[in-house]
Amino acid sequence: MTQIIDGKAVAARLRSSLAARIAQLSFKPGLAVVRVGEDPASGVYVRNKDRAASEAGFASRTIHLPESTTEAELLAQIAALNADPGVDGILVQLPLPKHIRSEAAIAAVDPAKDVDGFHPVNAGKLASGLPGLVPCTPRGVMHLLAEAKAKLSGARAVVVGRSQIVGRPMAQLLLGADCTVTIAHSRTADLPGECRRADILVAAVGRPEMIRGDWVREGAMVIDVGINRMPDGKLKGDVAYEEALPRAAAITPVPGGVGPMTIACLLENTLEAALARRA
Ligand code: NDP
Repeated sequence: MTQIIDGKAVAARLRSSLAARIAQLSFKPGLAVVRVGEDPASGVYVRNKDRAASEAGFASRTIHLPESTTEAELLAQIAALNADPGVDGILVQLPLPKHIRSEAAIAAVDPAKDVDGFHPVNAGKLASGLPGLVPCTPRGVMHLLAEAKAKLSGARAVVVGRSQIVGRPMAQLLLGADCTVTIAHSRTADLPGECRRADILVAAVGRPEMIRGDWVREGAMVIDVGINRMPDGKLKGDVAYEEALPRAAAITPVPGGVGPMTIACLLENTLEAALARRA
C-alpha cells in the first residue's frame, strides 16, 4: 500500500516540539519578516508565518514597507535588523518590487540571521558540507523523507528543478545524506528516463502534473514540491498524483505535503539561529 506522507501532521508535530523547546528558554527567539509592496500572495504568506511564529512562542514582527521603498531604504532597514539584538532571524519576503534587486537584499542579511538560508555564505556552506542555515523547503523535504523512513544512503535521487531556493539546496542535502544525485532541468535530454531511474524523486518545477505516472519507478518515494494554482482555484502539484499513486512506495499530496513544512522549518531555523547566536 502506498504511504501518503501527511505533511500537515509532520509540520504540526515539528511546530509543537519547537514550542516545547522555546517554553524552556529564558528568552523568546525573535523573527522579523520584511515585506515590501502589496503582492497579494506575499500578504497571505507573511500573515501565516507571523501567526505560526507567535503560536510557537517566537517574538514575531512584520515590517511592511511601501511599494515606493528604494533599494537603499530596504538595505538600511535590513542593516537595522542585523544590529538589533532582539532579532535572531530575518526574512525578506520575495518577490520584491522590480526596482529592488533581490540578490542585493539577500546579500544584505547577516548570514547568522539568514533564516531563509538564501545568503551566498549559507549556500556556500551547504555546498561545502559545512553547517549553516539551510533553505526551509528542502529542509522540510528531508523531514518528510525521514518520516517515510526512506533509505537514503546509496539511493538514486533525482531532483527536477535547479532553482536557488529549492532544486539546488535539495540536491545538496540529498548528497549530504549519501544519495547518488541527479539534477534535472528544462534542458535535460530525457527527463522521463532520468525520473524512471529515481528511488527518490523530488519535483520542484512549477508545471502542473508534468511528471506522469509512468515516469515513476515502482516503489519510488515521490516528493512533490510544486504548488500550481489552477483556473478553478484548486492547487495541483508537479506530479500527476493519481497516476503516480499506485506505483510509488510513498508520495506527498498537494496540498498537505511539502507546503506546510516550509513555515515549520522557518521556525526551526529561527530557533537554531537564536541558540547559535547565544552559544
Ligand atoms: P523556479 O521557476 O525558480 O524553477 C523551476 C525549475 O524547473 C527550473 O530549474 C527549471 O529549469 C525547471 N523546469 C522548468 N520547466 C521544466 C521542464 N519542462 N522540464 C524540466 N525542468 C523544468 O521555481 P521554484 O524552484 O521557485 O519552485 C518550483 C515549484 O515549487 C513551484 O511550483 C513553486 O510554487 C513551488 N514551491 C513550493 C514551496 C513550498 O513551500 N512547498 C516553496 C517554494 C516553491 P531551468 O533552470 O532550466 O529553467
